[in-house]
Amino acid sequence: MDYQGNIFRPPSEANSILLQVTRGCSHNKCTFCELYKGTRFTLKDEATIESDIEFARTYCRRQNRLFLCDGDALIVPQKRLVTILKEVKRQLPWVKRIGTYANTKSIAKKTVEEMKELKSLGLSIAYMGLETGDDVTLTAINKGADSARMIEMGRKIREAGIKLSVTVLLGIAGRERSMIHAKETGRVLSAIDPEFVGALSLMLTPGTPLYQDHQKGKFPVLDAKELLTELGVMISATNLTNGLFHSNHASNYLTLEGRLPRDRDRILATVDRALAGVENVFLQVGGGVDEAVNKATLTINLVSLKERSFSQEEMKNWIRDNLKPAFDKACCEGLNLLVWHAFVCSPASMPRASPTRSSASGPRSPRCWRRPPP
Ligand code: SF4
Repeated sequence: MDYQGNIFRPPSEANSILLQVTRGCSHNKCTFCELYKGTRFTLKDEATIESDIEFARTYCRRQNRLFLCDGDALIVPQKRLVTILKEVKRQLPWVKRIGTYANTKSIAKKTVEEMKELKSLGLSIAYMGLETGDDVTLTAINKGADSARMIEMGRKIREAGIKLSVTVLLGIAGRERSMIHAKETGRVLSAIDPEFVGALSLMLTPGTPLYQDHQKGKFPVLDAKELLTELGVMISATNLTNGLFHSNHASNYLTLEGRLPRDRDRILATVDRALAGVENVFLQVGGGVDEAVNKATLTINLVSLKERSFSQEEMKNWIRDNLKPAFDKACCEGLNLLVWHAFVCSPASMPRASPTRSSASGPRSPRCWRRPPP
């Protein structure tokens, strides 16, 4: 396959065929985003795309999902996109679902009828970054649309019968507007009523304007407790018909999943339990361990940590069974930052994990074991 530049895809497309049809993002101005910085937005030539589809016909026969990369493949002109989808249908008949990122600009360029045509050719899910429903924050982060436009474009996707997954960003409004961000995001999500909502936590990336603001003391990064409070208020303010709300991205402190409104009470109770224990958690953010680890994010379910009272031996076993697989998964996901969450116990009493000890699940990679410094 011909991949140019960095390739990004939603976590739920981890096993999809990744077919790059554009380079970069046609907007490329969000102040927190470094995904395609320095990449000039271009459409890839048809011959390359055709040859990639041919490659997939031979080598991707067990993948029944396909994701169109890069940042907003929906922006590809209708005629060309129809040709691509028809070719996928013809050459990869086993592909059951095609997904794409979409932003308000690319959605606006398509009519509902055109999107229905894409749906009939297999495009069945679009991922849209809302980030926040707060208009002040949307302007501040240069998202290129206000909340009314977000609602209009989100509904347009749904009207075409394409499933919609909306991403929101915890911490993106800073401290002062955190609660406004939570409530307004709930308002906009309720108005769009998407099938899926994914909550991510803001991870500042060097080189972005928001990172520079943070360095100058103009933008605060919320701590775990503030982020969890924000998440709880957002969920309380969100009314979906039957949407799946999840916060299982590796950037989050707490893994949650449930349908709203059915599972709201259960989810909020989990958030409350995490908040009750979060002060006891020693948190350290690190980076630069090595190239692979520096590109990874580790997430630990704080609730499961808080609810257990570990002995030394139990702690070792818990690390082996829970921490290591999560860390490996994060490494495989190739995410942007190493976030090391330590433990309910005192860091000084942390058992030293042996990189050479093997387990029932096989030998471990020494690279993946790091002891948090006291
Ligand atoms: S629209 Fe998405 S990919 Fe493009 S700059 Fe904004 S966050 Fe990044």
